[in-house]
Amino acid sequence: MQAKSFELNDVVEMKKQHPCGTNAWKIIRLGADIRIKCQGCGHSVMIPRRDFEKKMKKVLMRATEE
Ligand SMILES: [Zn+2]
Repeated sequence: MQAKSFELNDVVEMKKQHPCGTNAWKIIRLGADIRIKCQGCGHSVMIPRRDFEKKMKKVLMRATEE
């Protein structure tokens, strides 16, 4: 199984979209807990890294790729 890779400022898609209808989240804090910000409404949530890795579907936009 391949580990998911993600970095600070990447925009990711989660398995479950936000109630506002957007499914694009920017990683704004990386640590034991990860904080992601909804790109639709600006709401941010903090989730443990393990949960994040389970709930993340894919990276939509890499911060390191212009
Ligand atoms: Zn939202």
